[in-house]
Amino acid sequence: MVRTYSLDSKKVASAALEWLSARGVQLEEIAELVMQGQSEYYPNLSVEQCLEAVKRVLSKREVQNALLLGIQIDILTEQGKLMPPLQEMLVHDEKLFGCDEILALSIVNVYGSIGFTNFGFFDKTKPGVLDRLNNKESGEIHTFLDDLVGAVAASACSYIAHRKQAEAEATMGV
Ligand code: MG
Repeated sequence: MVRTYSLDSKKVASAALEWLSARGVQLEEIAELVMQGQSEYYPNLSVEQCLEAVKRVLSKREVQNALLLGIQIDILTEQGKLMPPLQEMLVHDEKLFGCDEILALSIVNVYGSIGFTNFGFFDKTKPGVLDRLNNKESGEIHTFLDDLVGAVAASACSYIAHRKQAEAEATMGV
């Protein structure tokens, strides 16, 4: 008898959130990045709205998939379980590796071009939690996670921008 494969979406969602937390990333810290990225455009933006946008982004299956994959690779790297020379490349966050950024871009892709601009900004300036994840002295390896968290924040920025645009159009009666 063929066993049919069926996946519980709630398990994927809760695993992604649990692993984010297990790897030391709080949703509030991602919301802070969103606040930094968007407050100059929307002076009335609240931390609660930023947190809500982060949760929206994290509710997408594409985002959860990318997080789980990236975190798994980071953990295997910490355990020294990758094949050479991949192991060395990921331990040292080799600049020309690039697949970490590509996986993160699969998140940004879901939210369109504003997300790309913010992703580039976070990647260059590494504020807050991104600086901590990128710190090579902690002994932890977050070669994938730093880009993924930046991508979640960038996507939440994009979500807010689109939301605010829709609100503005609604009040103008467009
Ligand atoms: Mg990286």
